[in-house]
Amino acid sequence: MSACLLGKRVRYDGGSLSVDDQIVERWRSEGRIVSVCPEVEAGMTIPRTPAEILGGSGGNVLDGDAAVVDKSGKVVTDEFIAGASVALELCQTFNIDIAILAESSPSCGSSVIYDGGFSGTKIPGMGVTAALLRQHGVQVFSQHEIALAYEAMQR
Ligand code: SF4
Repeated sequence: MSACLLGKRVRYDGGSLSVDDQIVERWRSEGRIVSVCPEVEAGMTIPRTPAEILGGSGGNVLDGDAAVVDKSGKVVTDEFIAGASVALELCQTFNIDIAILAESSPSCGSSVIYDGGFSGTKIPGMGVTAALLRQHGVQVFSQHEIALAYEAMQR
């Protein structure tokens, strides 16, 4: 699960996106949640300059056909791929096949991302971590789909 959704202040602006959800609380009390912030795992700082995917979606970044660029113009594609790889390693280590990741993030977004113009415009797409996990069979849900994630776990 995205660390920021669990209240960890790891977002680019030093904030979190805590979810208040009984299912998550139960998983947490049962010790079933593995937390990760791919960007911090890749060595990026808190706070950090916001970044967006330019020229495609997370899968395009993994294919080398799009880049992740921060607002200052610095290309941070390698960091984003490194962070995604850490998240995948955790899934493989702990036999995780369901992830709940923060929507709209260039790492964690699973159905929506920003368009690369830093104008607040969102487009359909997914972040680099969400794309890599899906490529390896992990089902990825957003914080708005926790009930769906719960249903998937019952199958
Ligand atoms: S959305 Fe993902 S990369 Fe961004 S702060 Fe949350 S866990 Fe970290």
